[in-house]
Amino acid sequence: MSIETALMRLSDVLGDRLSRSKADLDHHGQSETHFAPAPPDGVAWPETTAEVAEIARICSEEGCPIIGWGAGTSLEGHALATEGGLTVDFGRMNRVLQVNAEDMDVVVQPGVTRRALNEELRATGLFFPVDPGADASLGGMAMTRASGTTAVRYGTMRDNVRALEVVLADGRVIRTGSRARKSSAGYDLTGLFVGSEGTLGLVTELTLRLYGQPEAITAAVCAFDEMGPAVDAVTETIQSGVPMARIEFIDAPTVRAVNVYSGLDLPEMPHLMVEFHGSETGAAEDAERFAEIAQDHGAKNFERATRTEDRTRLWRARHDAYWAILAAHPGRTGYVTDVCVPITALAEAVAETEADIAASGIPGPIAGHVGDGNFHSVLLVDPDNPAEHDIALELSHKMAERALRLGGTVTGEHGVGLGKRRYMAAEHGDGWAVMGDIKRALDPGNLMNPGKLVPGNQ
Ligand SMILES: Cc1cc2nc3c(=O)[nH]c(=O)nc-3n(C[C@H](O)[C@H](O)[C@H](O)COP(=O)(O)OP(=O)(O)OC[C@H]3O[C@@H](n4cnc5c(N)ncnc54)[C@H](O)[C@@H]3O)c2cc1C
Repeated sequence: MSIETALMRLSDVLGDRLSRSKADLDHHGQSETHFAPAPPDGVAWPETTAEVAEIARICSEEGCPIIGWGAGTSLEGHALATEGGLTVDFGRMNRVLQVNAEDMDVVVQPGVTRRALNEELRATGLFFPVDPGADASLGGMAMTRASGTTAVRYGTMRDNVRALEVVLADGRVIRTGSRARKSSAGYDLTGLFVGSEGTLGLVTELTLRLYGQPEAITAAVCAFDEMGPAVDAVTETIQSGVPMARIEFIDAPTVRAVNVYSGLDLPEMPHLMVEFHGSETGAAEDAERFAEIAQDHGAKNFERATRTEDRTRLWRARHDAYWAILAAHPGRTGYVTDVCVPITALAEAVAETEADIAASGIPGPIAGHVGDGNFHSVLLVDPDNPAEHDIALELSHKMAERALRLGGTVTGEHGVGLGKRRYMAAEHGDGWAVMGDIKRALDPGNLMNPGKLVPGNQ
C-alpha cells in the first residue's frame, strides 16, 4: 500500500491522462500567493464520473492523498499537495450538460469556468452571476464557497448551487439536492459540500441557479477625499435598500496601479465603483438615489458608464486590480487578506486596518466588496526578506482578530485552505471539532485534501 502503487494502478486506468512529468507536477504544486510550492506525486485528468470514482477507490485502497484542482486560482494554498499524492485536475470535465432555460438552471461539469458558462448562456437571455474576478472553475468556486463583486445582489455560491454529484473517498457516488427551488428533505448535504474545499469528496457535477439578464445596466464611479466617507456612503446605501448589483471600494494606491495597468485616468483618490441592474427607469432611479447619498458624503467626479464597452472596461480594471497591484511593485509577492464584518462595523474595521498598514512600513493597498462588509488588502512583501513576511503575517493576524471582535469572519470568500486554519477554533469554538467529526465520518483515512480546513491529523 503506497502512493507509488496507487500511481502505477492509476496509469493502467488513465494511460497518458496520468502524468508524472516535472512540468505538470510543478504547475499543480504552486499557488497564486505566498505559500511555498508543494507538488503532488502525480496528476490525473479524468473525463467521467466513473473514472473519478475509480481514482478514489484506488487511492483509498493504497492510502494515497487526493487533491481536487479546478483552475488553481485559490488564494490560501488550498490546492497544494502538502502531503504529496494525486492531484485530480478537472480541466477535461468541462462540458455544460443541460441548460434548463424555463426552470432557470443549468447542469455543468466541475471544470467549466464561469466565463465559459456565461459565453454558452449568452443566447438564452440568462446568466450565472457569481463573479470572483479570476476565471475560476465552477467546481473550485463551489468548493471555496466563492463570491465576488455581485454577491451583494445575487448571493454567493452557497445561494446558487442547487444540487451536486460528489464522489466520496471510498468511491461511492452520491447526489445532493435536486433541481427543485427548495426542499425540506433532510440534512442540507449540498450546503455541507459547498465550501468544503475538497476535504469531503470530489465534485463531478453541479446544478446551478441562473438569472435573467437585466433589461438595463448602469455603472458609475465616484471619488472621495478619504476612505471613511466612502465606506459611510456604502453603509447608508445598503441600509436605505437601494438595490445595488455591485458596490466596490478601491483605495488611492489601488487606483494608481489600476490607472497604469488598465489605462484608466481616475483621480488618485479612494473610489466607489457601483452597478445597478433593472428596467431602464429602475436602474436610472437607483443610480440617482445612490448619487444623492454619495454626494451627501462628499463624493466627486461622478462618472456614469451605460455603454457595454465602458462598463466592461471598468469591471475588467477592477478584476485586474490584483495583477495591477503586483505590476506596480515589481519583485514583491502578494499576501492577500480577506475579512468580512457586519456592515455597521465596516468603517471601523477599514479605518483601523488602514492605520495598521500605514504604520507597518510595507505597502498594502485595500479593496473590497464593501456592500457585503468584505474587504481585502494585498500586502506586498519582498520574498527574500523574512522580516517583511513577519510584518505581513502580523497585519493579517490583526485583521482576522479584529473581524472576530467585530462579530465577523476571518474569511468572507477566499476560504480557509492552509492560511486561515489557525483561526478556525477562535471563530467556531467546538463547531470546528464537529467539522473534524464530519470529516472523519466521510473520509476516515484522511485522504481528501489532507492538511486543509479541519483540525490537524484528522
Ligand atoms: C486575481 C484574483 C481575484 C480573486 N477574487 C476573488 C473574489 O473576488 N472572490 C472570491 O471568492 N475568490 C476570489 N479569488 C480566489 C479564487 O478565484 C476562488 O477561490 C475560486 O473559487 C477558486 O476556483 P478554482 O477553480 O481556481 O479552484 P482551485 O484553486 O483549483 O481549487 C480550490 C479548492 O477547491 C478544491 N477543488 C477544486 N475543484 C474541485 C472539485 N471538482 N472537487 C473537489 N474539490 C475541488 C481544491 O482542492 C481546492 O481546495 C481570486 C483569485 C485571484 C487570483
